[in-house]
Amino acid sequence: MKTIYETIDPAEVDTPRAQAILEKAGEIIRAGGLVAFPTETVYGLGGDAENREASKKIYAAKGRPSDNPLIVHICALDQLKEIAAEYTEDMGRLAQAFWPGPLTIIVNSSGLIPHETTGGLDTVAVRFPSHPVANALIRVSGRTIAAPSANTSGRPSPTEAAHVRDDLDGKIDMIIDGGHVDIGLESTIVDLTEEAPTILRPGYITPDDVKRVLGACRIDPGITQENTHVRPKAPGMRYRHYAPKAHLTIIEGGRQQVLKALATKAEESAAGGAKTAVICSAEAAEALKAKTTGIEIITIGAEGNDDEIAANLFAVLRKCDDDGVERIFSESYEDGRIGGAIMNRLIKAAGHDIITV
Ligand code: AMP
Ligand code: MG
Repeated sequence: MKTIYETIDPAEVDTPRAQAILEKAGEIIRAGGLVAFPTETVYGLGGDAENREASKKIYAAKGRPSDNPLIVHICALDQLKEIAAEYTEDMGRLAQAFWPGPLTIIVNSSGLIPHETTGGLDTVAVRFPSHPVANALIRVSGRTIAAPSANTSGRPSPTEAAHVRDDLDGKIDMIIDGGHVDIGLESTIVDLTEEAPTILRPGYITPDDVKRVLGACRIDPGITQENTHVRPKAPGMRYRHYAPKAHLTIIEGGRQQVLKALATKAEESAAGGAKTAVICSAEAAEALKAKTTGIEIITIGAEGNDDEIAANLFAVLRKCDDDGVERIFSESYEDGRIGGAIMNRLIKAAGHDIITV
């Protein structure tokens, strides 16, 4: 299949040119085809959420396990009311506070969304994205759009159209390039089908944000760092994920000790013949470049700038793959509002290999 490649400036979705592209994309969705598009979190791979064949195509294009459900994207609250078995006050509160935005809500299914989309579950994940291109595409298509991240299953999520092209060129009908995404981490998932609201996947909206709105919020014990033996509720959180091809080790501890350990371990690895990279803040990069040779130093953002680090995380992991890196050492980034969400991804990418110095 030849993949159509189009560009839309998110600030200009209302121009006739953008509208023409969106019309064409909407036609593809209505015909059961697949369109990759930017959202505020990561790029999504979209198909008609009510079309079983479209959902099957999404799983096939990504190589995604069929028990890992898709998130259904909407552009109006009424669509949630049709998808959910019952519309509750908590749904209204979350929608009011965080939609459109980077929050996914798990609700009991009315049966409208087929099992091919929900991975066989009787619950559905629903999100109302704020990205102008995503919003316009859902509206123009006249459908709700099932869209997982637009990457090959297991690879780091795509934060630029080039990442989508690397993974899915020739496998999907269209890619809409809307530039680099804002947030760079997938949406926060809140499950409203349990007794208490439960975070199944951390993201830009934090547990405290949810607690402020609903009065309570717990975190799925399966996703906390201490409980590696507990099964996460979200099927997608059970798989090895976000992983670069190279083995990644996180080094945490006092600043000076971490810098020293990064330098020694990376040099040892390079001396052993492995192409080696260090992922670190701009400040640490300065220090390491002066101290080391023969190591690729990749800057992830300014020290302590969690928004910037989140936005660059997946691109940095992909760069390691592109450069043929075989061994990676990284600082840890738990500081700031979304440090927890960043570390959730990084620790998975490292297969829980963490050294404390
Ligand atoms: P992705 O769209 O690729 O970011 O993945 C969607 C995430 O949402 C995966 O981790 C899924 O397992 C999770 N998810 C989707 N639907 C449900 C559901 N009904 N219950 C629990 N988790 C879900
Ligand atoms: Mg994904």
